[in-house]
Amino acid sequence: MAINTLVSSFDHLYIDEISRQSPLAQRLIKHFPQEKITWVNEAPFSSSKGALTAKEFDRSKKNIFVTPFKGQFFKRCPGARPGLSCCNYFVLNWGLQCNMNCSYCYLQSFINTPTLTLYSNLEDALKELESFAPSLKDQPLRVGTGETVDSLSLDPLTLYSHDLIHFFKDYPHWSLEFKTKSAAVDQFLQQEHGGNVVVSWSINPQYIIEREEHGTANLKDRLNAAEKCKARGFRIAFHIDPMIWHPDWKNSYLELVHDLTERFSPHDMPYISVGALRFQPEQRHMMRERFGMNSLVTSAEMFPSNDGKLRYEQSLRKEMFSFLVNAFKNRSTAWNLFLCMETPETWISSTGQLPQKTEGLTDLFDSRLIRKHQSASSSSAKVQP
Ligand code: SF4
Repeated sequence: MAINTLVSSFDHLYIDEISRQSPLAQRLIKHFPQEKITWVNEAPFSSSKGALTAKEFDRSKKNIFVTPFKGQFFKRCPGARPGLSCCNYFVLNWGLQCNMNCSYCYLQSFINTPTLTLYSNLEDALKELESFAPSLKDQPLRVGTGETVDSLSLDPLTLYSHDLIHFFKDYPHWSLEFKTKSAAVDQFLQQEHGGNVVVSWSINPQYIIEREEHGTANLKDRLNAAEKCKARGFRIAFHIDPMIWHPDWKNSYLELVHDLTERFSPHDMPYISVGALRFQPEQRHMMRERFGMNSLVTSAEMFPSNDGKLRYEQSLRKEMFSFLVNAFKNRSTAWNLFLCMETPETWISSTGQLPQKTEGLTDLFDSRLIRKHQSASSSSAKVQP
């Protein structure tokens, strides 16, 4: 998306006076027309307290607030909870809220800030990262950036990718993962990198993108962007997540597997992660208000699971995962798939083995790294265990 189109998709830009001199604020004011910019001393829309209404949530996507983040930047991957199998992974959130609009988006379950917030102090996050180096520089630390904000959809404006890619050049054992549903890669393709940057896409059949992933890049553009990254030596990955049931789901996902495997080979990526639709029960009301009942997500039959989320019934999840795994394996047994955010039972019944035993995934599940990191955190009080 061109910068002008991106800028015009927002109603307003609010900048905290404290952030006035930040590179982010200086960059944004070059792109936004003056009438869309307000300098503030407190967060805008502060009269709205507590949970956002559906209307306020919609409005929050259209109004940017630039301010420093005052807490600790690094968190553990939300999948790393008892009862769930997931990768050991650290999350850097440099913003909160997304400018795209997927019907199932989990941000609907917890965002109660009335703006799309961009943190102006990325340098503090990089200092936190630097503080890990004495104990972890030679360990395979993984940092992802797409949890509470899409990693790249706003990057043409923020250019945070530049600072991050530059920082990771000095840490060859560490890797940085951008996770996106956009096709916004041109702004960093020319950056010199250390070969340790993974650009990953959540993908779905075009049918699902059109119905449920509003404002995201279409499938072809995401795959084109991945090809560009690959050509520049960036590592790439795909997440087929969330798989969404619909009457023709088998054909849709077969087509997706076809499109992906025609353009990429198993050697282009260490794994493909797979997940099925899931969301917190408390966001159902918000989703129905925002997307009505014609959505495949709001009308889905979902059941509570042990971690409190609503999911498809386990036998359907197993059928969908097995179908997808087989579709890839029929093309080449070299494809590696892993189920993120899934219970060990579903792992075993869908793939026949637990994640630690899946070829090529050992580094993703290296609990020694987390233990070491936790002990580093108790002494520095910088890292949330
Ligand atoms: S791209 Fe991700 S963060 Fe953005 S709306 Fe969709 S699910 Fe939410």
